[in-house]
Amino acid sequence: MKFRTLAIHAGNKADRETGAVVPPIHIASTYVQPGGKRGAFDYSRSGNPTRSNVEQTLNALENGKGALAFASGMAATHCVTMLLESNDHVLAGADIYGGTYRLFHDIISRGGVSVSLADSTRLDTFAGHFSSRTRLVWIESPGNPQMTITDIRACAELAHDHGALLAVDNTFATPVLTRPLELGADIVMHSATKYLGGHSDLLGGALVVRDRELWEQLYFTQNATGAVLSPFDSFLLSRGLKTLELRVREQSNTAHRLAEWLEADVRVARVMYPGLPGHPGHQTAQRQMEGGMGAMLSFEINGDFEETKRVVYSTRLFQLAVSLGAVESLIEQPAGMSHASYAAEDRTKHGITDNLIRLSVGLEDFEDLREDLDQALN
Ligand SMILES: *Cc1c(COP(=O)(O)O)cnc(C)c1O
Repeated sequence: MKFRTLAIHAGNKADRETGAVVPPIHIASTYVQPGGKRGAFDYSRSGNPTRSNVEQTLNALENGKGALAFASGMAATHCVTMLLESNDHVLAGADIYGGTYRLFHDIISRGGVSVSLADSTRLDTFAGHFSSRTRLVWIESPGNPQMTITDIRACAELAHDHGALLAVDNTFATPVLTRPLELGADIVMHSATKYLGGHSDLLGGALVVRDRELWEQLYFTQNATGAVLSPFDSFLLSRGLKTLELRVREQSNTAHRLAEWLEADVRVARVMYPGLPGHPGHQTAQRQMEGGMGAMLSFEINGDFEETKRVVYSTRLFQLAVSLGAVESLIEQPAGMSHASYAAEDRTKHGITDNLIRLSVGLEDFEDLREDLDQALN
């Protein structure tokens, strides 16, 4: 079956008891064990039918060998890091999500795990940052907020040559545009809060893996630590996934047109969108991404921190908020918002300038969004 069909049918069978086309939300925390015999489910942390349904959908969409749904994206990422032991090393891309940066630097470091950040778009120099203790490579493509593109296939080979696992935060690309497991990655992580849910009404995370044994280890860790997705949020996620492809394709189209419009505007200094031929990751993106270049884009205005702030405060349709990936468009200033948890020095080093604006392009009409940006820039 093709992606759109899987999104609707994988994990979504009609209810056998009632014939309901949408499976019911199973809210029970525990399950009877007749005569002491365990059935498919025994306790909701260990397994829940509604969560299990959405895990099947996620697994089908990422073409994996097993999925796990978590209470948030950070819970999913944390679960991966719990596979590590003291003295292990993590090599991460330079422009990872701010919360991942904080988890790596302030939490997992307490257990004696060391982390280095390096530019994963340049694998020749990235390779120099491996050590004999590197067990995990963590990347995002497109990266945040510069929309950097990492060659996932080449990065997977590099990680495997060094005996490390490759995990890809696929939140920005979604499996509609990139399926990292097919390119050799071992783990795909999602903040399901973003495109997968798609409506700014749930918090969730997911892991999908290429290998059954790795799934078993992660399942054990998830069950032992408990950050599972609730039944209601599992339902909302299932509901969102059914329209994922349509939303992501349309939002990407609009983002592409806005990027081209912004690039031609004198009030704008620079546009970062992998769909533009001038973007350093354009060629890799064309090879790696299928049917769109994503609905996230960043740009720098000709102005300082205060003027940039004024632009993001002046939009009417684009709402000033962190987060991304939903039907409503959002705008933010990374230096003061999404990347505030980066150390100032790392912020500058990774090009998060004061005049940088990040857009999450929603499902609204292109003309309305363009007019809104136009009046805000004025
Ligand atoms: C939001 C986000 C996360 C964290 O997910 P939560 O659901 O907020 O915990 C991780 N990575 C990226 C790229 C994100 O945008």
